[in-house]
Amino acid sequence: MTKVLLVDDEEAFVATLGKRLRKRGLLCEEAHSGADALSRLESVRGIDVVVLDVKMPEMDGLEALKEVKRLHPIVEVIMLTGHATIESAIEGMKFGAFDYLMKPCDIEDLVAKVGEAAQRKADHEERIMQARLREITERGRG
Ligand SMILES: [Mg+2]
Repeated sequence: MTKVLLVDDEEAFVATLGKRLRKRGLLCEEAHSGADALSRLESVRGIDVVVLDVKMPEMDGLEALKEVKRLHPIVEVIMLTGHATIESAIEGMKFGAFDYLMKPCDIEDLVAKVGEAAQRKADHEERIMQARLREITERGRG
């Protein structure tokens, strides 16, 4: 089951979106700032995908993205942006964001994008596991 962390400073937006994503079978955690998101990632195990608002006070989405990818490189991040911050969302792609969606985003588009991101994380984890197994085998051969 895919576990999503929704991060947006608009609390009502997070609550509504969380409800809609849960209805579609996703596990959802909620955060209302970049700092909140980072502490959630520490305390909640197994978050696969972060859905991250670009425009937030204090730590903005781009800064939060950089920290998420630095501390949790395997976690995938989808940026949510308005027209005014689209440059930051595109910049986010350079810093490892999986993709971005324009607000207000269609719920089906978001669910599909989360699914793709979770699949990429699963593939990535699989490749890491195989690399570890290969390393163990090679070490065994001395
Ligand atoms: Mg915002």
